[in-house]
Amino acid sequence: MGIQNTDSQKFSRLRQSLVQLSNEIKKLTNPFLSDKPVIKGTVYEIKRKCGKPGCKCAHGELHCRMVVSASEKGKTRLRVIPSGFLIEVQGKVRRYQDLRQARARLVEVHKRILQTMDEMEAMRREEVPKSGKNSSAA
Ligand SMILES: [Zn+2]
Repeated sequence: MGIQNTDSQKFSRLRQSLVQLSNEIKKLTNPFLSDKPVIKGTVYEIKRKCGKPGCKCAHGELHCRMVVSASEKGKTRLRVIPSGFLIEVQGKVRRYQDLRQARARLVEVHKRILQTMDEMEAMRREEVPKSGKNSSAA
């Protein structure tokens, strides 16, 4: 015999979300199964003057460069992305961000799974039946 009436609705809601959360773990694990390279960094554009007199940049038309700010051996370095490599670098950076995002969500999902399990366990807990007034311990 399971949990009674009103509680049984709550219990089945908890059971449902436990199943959903467990399925989500599988999904969140997938990005970590890949061995494609990642870059821990940020891609952005910088605009600057080169300093040559008479250059267009001296009149306000600044030079644009795509750079990646990435950590290498514990130091943050700013590197110009060679032409033709922007898409590749952006992909690696995005892949890294995907990993971090999945990891953060995984922490949240684990927390909620444990909360849900605790709640379900508490709902199922019962006391050892007491013997009735008239019945002697048989
Ligand atoms: Zn210039």
